[in-house]
Amino acid sequence: MKHHKRTSSTPFVRVGPSGVHGLGAFATRDLPAESFLGLYEGRRYTKAEIATKVWDDQLTYLFTLSNDMTIDGAKGGNATRHLNHSCEPNCEAVEEYDEGGELVLKFQTLVAVDAGDELFIDYSLTADDGSPASKYPCHCGAPSCRGTMLAPPEDEADEQAAQPAQALSAGT
Ligand SMILES: [Zn+2]
Repeated sequence: MKHHKRTSSTPFVRVGPSGVHGLGAFATRDLPAESFLGLYEGRRYTKAEIATKVWDDQLTYLFTLSNDMTIDGAKGGNATRHLNHSCEPNCEAVEEYDEGGELVLKFQTLVAVDAGDELFIDYSLTADDGSPASKYPCHCGAPSCRGTMLAPPEDEADEQAAQPAQALSAGT
């Protein structure tokens, strides 16, 4: 298949029907932990632009970075946008500054995965409008499933899991 999008290639990620929800992302080969999968790409919005925009879809493809920029993977995104949420993910999203000084979101494996494994990250969504957790139900099936894709409340979660995507770079 030929793709004509101007997105970067993600050779280790194949998109196909998910075992959990809609489309999913799968490893094309065995990968060790901390393998680079691709950058989360898409149209970028400032905080002010996001505030004035009416979203007709859910938060599925939106990623807000620690500098308050939001990336909409639905517009110009690559295969990384198809990683589904799991409460026990095998991948993670890590913020990093590229050579041009732009903050980018790097997807990488958290643990070793086998070829064909479905790839997941923990979305840890934040609902700024105070939506109930039940609005974003999780069906990942992990033993520790929180039942929602929202981030756990800070007061009853450990330090690492309490933060939304923007804090995932704290692991360095
Ligand atoms: Zn879950």
